[in-house]
Parts: sequence; C-alpha cells; structure tokens
Amino acid sequence: MSSSKGIDLTGQTAIVTGASTGIGEAAAIELARAGADIVVNHRDSEDDARDTVGKVEALGRRAVAIQADVSKEEDVIRLFDEAEAALGPADVVFSNAGRQKDAKIGDMTLDDWNAVISVNLTGAFLVGREAIRRFRKKGIRAEISPAMGKLIYNSSVHQVICWAFHANYAASKGGMHMLMQSMAQEVANERIRINSVAPGAIATAINAAERASHEADILRLIPYGRIGEPADVGRVVAWLASDAADYIVGQTIFVDGAMTLYPEFRGNG
Ligand code: NAD
Repeated sequence: MSSSKGIDLTGQTAIVTGASTGIGEAAAIELARAGADIVVNHRDSEDDARDTVGKVEALGRRAVAIQADVSKEEDVIRLFDEAEAALGPADVVFSNAGRQKDAKIGDMTLDDWNAVISVNLTGAFLVGREAIRRFRKKGIRAEISPAMGKLIYNSSVHQVICWAFHANYAASKGGMHMLMQSMAQEVANERIRINSVAPGAIATAINAAERASHEADILRLIPYGRIGEPADVGRVVAWLASDAADYIVGQTIFVDGAMTLYPEFRGNG
C-alpha cells in the first residue's frame, strides 16, 4: 500500500443497499468515482435503480441493479449471489437501506416497531453477516487492498441522540452501533474492517416532510449552518472504504455539521 494511494478503489466491487435514492445513490456515485464497480440494490424501485446504474456507468464503471429486501434472509443471500455472478466478489459493502415509521410511543403499534427494526437492525445483521461470509470466501487480494473486506453501516446521529416520537428508529440505530462494534471486534484480526457513518440531517426523501414543515427548527440544531447533501456522506463512505482509512476499525464517523455538539447548550444550557 502506497502512502500516496489516497481514495483509490480501482478493481474493487461495492454493494450498496438502498442505492436507488438519497445517500445510497450518492455513495454509489462516489464509490464509482473512486474506481469501484457498483451493485445497486433496491427493494421495489427499479426505475430509480436504473437511473443510479446510468450515473455509475457515465463515470466509466460497471453497474448492475439487483432487487432484494434486506429484511429477508433469502433475499440478502440471493443479492450477494447475483452480485458475485455479475461483478465478482464484493470488496466493499455499504449497508445503507433504512426507513422511519414515526409514532408517539403510546400509539406505536407492533407493526410500526417491527417495520423499522426489521429493515434497520435485522437488515444490518443479515447484510453484515453475509458480507463477512463472502469476504472470507474471497480472501485477501493484497494487490487490491490490505483489507479482506470493508463493511460500512449507515447509522445516524440517533445512535447517540435520543429521539422522542421516533423510539423505534433511535433504538434501531443504537442497536446498529453495538452490532457494528461487536462484529468489528470479532473479525478485525481477519483484516475485515467494519465502521459506520452517522449522518445528521441530510436532504433526502426520508425527511422531506420534516424539512418542508420545520426547516428553521432543524437548522437551529446544526452549528455549521446548513442541511447536509447526500454527497457529503457519500464522499466519507468512499474514503472509509479506501486504504487511506486502512487503520480505522470499529469507529463511527459523524457527518452532521456538528449536530452532536448539542448546540442548545452553547449559552450555558
Ligand atoms: P431514502 O429514503 O432516500 O433512502 C432509503 C433507501 O432504503 C430507499 O432507497 C429505500 O427504498 C431503501 N429501503 C428501504 N427499505 C428497504 C428494504 N427492506 N430493502 C432494501 N432497501 C430498502 O433516505 P436516506 O436518507 O438516503 O436514507 C438512507 C440511510 O441513511 C437510512 O439508513 C437512514 O436511516 C440513514 N440516515 C439518513 C439521514 C438523513 O437525514 N437523510 C440521517 C441519518 C441517517
């Protein structure tokens, strides 16, 4: 590994879940810009996924769209099978797919709870477990990267900031944090690097309604003074996946314009 290698993913394949929109799409583009071929996973948005594939191909990389629901074990295994058949074994996996289903705690149904936990937390487990199995099968390709594989989770500032009326979502991201660190601790000696990005408020469909109704309130929570763009996170994902970040293992990189500095306490609380 050259010290000047920088963000170079040439010869690597990356699977991005939930890559037809938002942060997943931006990460797919940034990973491709760094040289990777991309598997664009989507659950039920084939047109949007094809759009992402076109953007990756425009950068000169190969890409394929694969439908799979990350909350279903058989879908996740099929996703990795089809990905490998199309673009070879994955070197990078960005477990990004996620959702919200907000409710007051007293009104939150078991369906509301399960809808979020099954995608955000069980999906993270299924995708992470399959990534590790496939990294082991592939082994280290020293000419490509000193790491056997790179698994990156899309967590949230809500892995540390509690969130009233979103208890299912905050619980899923808090759980994801311990899942990520426990897995990283377990497999780091195999040269598998597992980390998370934790975005603050990023302009995507997941929060379009909240931004439309409460943009000023959201901005008050962001010392850096702007809502994030999907590419703000995508660029960090590409860097974390690269050998420039080879000694970063089991960490969370907050991409939040300083939201986690709790700006409400600036004037003595
Ligand atoms: P988004 O709604 O554009 O993206 C979510 C993607 O996940 C969609 O493409 C959706 O189709 C996909 N998805 C949902 N359920 C799925 C399933 N079962 N199987 C496969 N794909 C599925 O919103 P986004 O903001 O880009 O969200 C991406 C990730 O970023 C989520 O995990 C979210 O929790 C996280 N995040 C977003 C923000 C933000 O402010 N936008 C902040 C913190 C964390």
